[in-house]
Amino acid sequence: EKKQSELVIHESEEKFRNIFESFQDIYYRTNLHGIITMMSPSGFEQSGYTESEIIGKHISRFYEYPKKVSSVIRELLKTQKVKNFEANLVLKDGTVIQCISNMRLIYNTRGKVIAVDGVARDITYLKKASEELFNAKEIAEKSLKVKESFLANMSHEIRTPMNGIIGVIDLLNDTLLNQHQKVYVQTVKRSSETLMNILNDILDLSKIEAGKMHMKLTCIGLEDVIEKLHALFYQQAFSKQIDFTYDIDKDVPPYIMADETRLLQVMANLTSNAIKFTEQGHVKIHASVVSSHKKTKVFKVAISDTGIGIPKDKLNMLFEDFSQVDTTITKTYSGTGLGLAISKELTKLMNGQIGVETNFGQGSTFWFTFEADESKKSIDAASRKPVWDDNIKFDAQVLLVDDNQVNLFVAERILEKAGCTVVTATNGEEAIKKAQDKNFDLILMDIQMPKMDGITATKAIKELLKKKTPPIIAMTAYAMKEDQEKFINSGMNDYISKPISADNLLIKIQEWLGKKKQVTVKSTKDTKAHETEIINGNVVNNLLKLADKESIIHIYGDFETELKDSLKETAAFLAKGELEEIQKILHTLKGSAGTLGVSKVENKVREIEQNLKQNIYFELESELKTLGTYAKEFYKSYKDFLIQL
Ligand code: ADP
Repeated sequence: EKKQSELVIHESEEKFRNIFESFQDIYYRTNLHGIITMMSPSGFEQSGYTESEIIGKHISRFYEYPKKVSSVIRELLKTQKVKNFEANLVLKDGTVIQCISNMRLIYNTRGKVIAVDGVARDITYLKKASEELFNAKEIAEKSLKVKESFLANMSHEIRTPMNGIIGVIDLLNDTLLNQHQKVYVQTVKRSSETLMNILNDILDLSKIEAGKMHMKLTCIGLEDVIEKLHALFYQQAFSKQIDFTYDIDKDVPPYIMADETRLLQVMANLTSNAIKFTEQGHVKIHASVVSSHKKTKVFKVAISDTGIGIPKDKLNMLFEDFSQVDTTITKTYSGTGLGLAISKELTKLMNGQIGVETNFGQGSTFWFTFEADESKKSIDAASRKPVWDDNIKFDAQVLLVDDNQVNLFVAERILEKAGCTVVTATNGEEAIKKAQDKNFDLILMDIQMPKMDGITATKAIKELLKKKTPPIIAMTAYAMKEDQEKFINSGMNDYISKPISADNLLIKIQEWLGKKKQVTVKSTKDTKAHETEIINGNVVNNLLKLADKESIIHIYGDFETELKDSLKETAAFLAKGELEEIQKILHTLKGSAGTLGVSKVENKVREIEQNLKQNIYFELESELKTLGTYAKEFYKSYKDFLIQL
């Protein structure tokens, strides 16, 4: 029996020793004074000390901060157990490692404390990893901030010169230009609009990434949105001989609550691609309801084309930023590869999905879904884009503050054309001085300016003029909504985004000045008079500054031929019922008649073209006849008219 129990004890000791020796963590035992009495082999291995250098020594000797250890032993005696105590150990070679330890008191059979034992684990690696993670997080947060401010700045820096470019193009377009110059101006206008679109795309994508893009839900008619889309791309499709149609299922409700701008943005991206990658054939838009739960419905808009299609192996990269299928240097199609990436993010924000079915060489169907509530209200008329009526003028004094000469020039011209008397200032300090010189009706204030910015200047003006301060409108190239709200909070009455267009600026001014400062000018009569003139004398006089009378008569002679040919062709197309061809001819004719000031003809052509665009055909034949009569009036009288000048 004794042998038997010795054997059992031996076996259990053996087991214990094995565990003890293969221990990865450091096991140690000390007496109540902190003298080490036992340590697992892992302790010697990790610390580099020999047994004799450790056993019999005070435990605090091996810690980087011995005082911390003494206080933990005191705590141990009080609470009997210490958990997750973190402290640094110094190894024999001087290396410091970070350890986490658990300690407890050991009692003898009579319940008296006789020793302390503990297990320490090296957590240097873990600590380092978590520190690195923390740093990485900090860097990521910092770089997001950098990115945001970079965006705000970039948007400002690029929008400011764009403001100048777009503004001057509009002004240039209003001057007398010959046919070549008109084409050049149109080209510059288109390019600058494209550049603006790219800039907006990049900003949009970054706004989405920064979580700053929010949907603005209003009551809209889906059919109305699709009609707008159709009108937007009709001309482009027409010029590529693409049959461009749309079809809306009967169960699509008339009104829904959705963000019209963003919805239109996704549809426009997909439609413009469909037209871009298709030659002839057709592009079809189809809107349907996929599912509905009470008032909430899931809608699907599919845009199919008979274009070039997409190879299967390229499908997975389609919706990524800056990715295009054709990346060869001789790329046939222009683009940035951002449209689909933005569309994907926008559909996500609308709780929808986006996808494509395609056959390489035969065409593609890009589709997206979105969630929206059905709505009963009719469309808010105020949400439509306003257009300024040129006949309305203001009798108002405006202080215009901007450091950029081009912006100043553009805004000044727009304001002066609208009848305002303008005083300019190029920085905040100058603005404060000039604001006191006169009773202004309105101040337009740029934000970023040298010497003193617009916000500081606004505050100073308000303090000086108190109740007499006129409304101050910020002109800001900052595109983010948050920034714009910041200006309002800092005392400005309103803001207007750059690039400033005449329509937006004047409508904003009308909002603040109201009807009191408005005058309807006599020039209305003049313009009306021009409309009924066979030839506008002012235009001819201007032309005479550019060329001699003989050449001018020759030019009008050429126009006579053009007009005759156009009318003949129109009659032929009318007989064949090819109305789109008629529209094309009239479009060109309108341009030539406008340049030469052949007003009566020009206005009739414009009217017929407008009607055709809106699919109003019933008066077409009689209208073309009237145009013929006006043309004859012109043939008969233009030579005499020119000679007597
Ligand atoms: P972009 O058109 O500006 O290059 P997108 O993100 O809108 O950028 O499109 C990415 C790419 O997807 C396009 O360059 C084109 O290769 C491919 N793609 C998009 N739509 C179509 C389509 N309807 N037919 C064929 N290829 C398409």
